[in-house]
Amino acid sequence: MPDTIFAKIIRSEIPADIVYEDEHVVAFTDVNPQAPTHVLFIPREPIPTLNDATPEQAELLGRLLLAAAAYARKQGLAEKGYRVVVNCNEDGGQTVYHLHLHLLGGRPMLWPPG
Ligand code: 5GP
Repeated sequence: MPDTIFAKIIRSEIPADIVYEDEHVVAFTDVNPQAPTHVLFIPREPIPTLNDATPEQAELLGRLLLAAAAYARKQGLAEKGYRVVVNCNEDGGQTVYHLHLHLLGGRPMLWPPG
């Protein structure tokens, strides 16, 4: 699997504003934020896209979601709400091929998305 910018962030080879980390998950603010809160949650284990996730990784995927929800609660976003997005491949708008959840909050979100 090719190395990605997110793998470099996990290895501290390039800087990032890390807001949460544990044994399985790292979260950092997006360099090009699309909302007042825009944080990326990534697994330490590199999974290129959601297509590549396996049933054995179900717990890890759950950990990503729970970490995002916990962070949203901590930021006071839970009651008003927020959005969690996974872009997959070209039509999904994925640009970094290390699976990540976008947590977007702090403003009303539109639907349908662009
Ligand atoms: P995707 O388009 O793959 O769903 O999302 C990739 C996200 O990573 C984009 O929102 C982009 O702004 C963000 N991003 C790309 N390179 C970097 C980086 O070097 N540092 C940080 N913090 N975010 C990045």
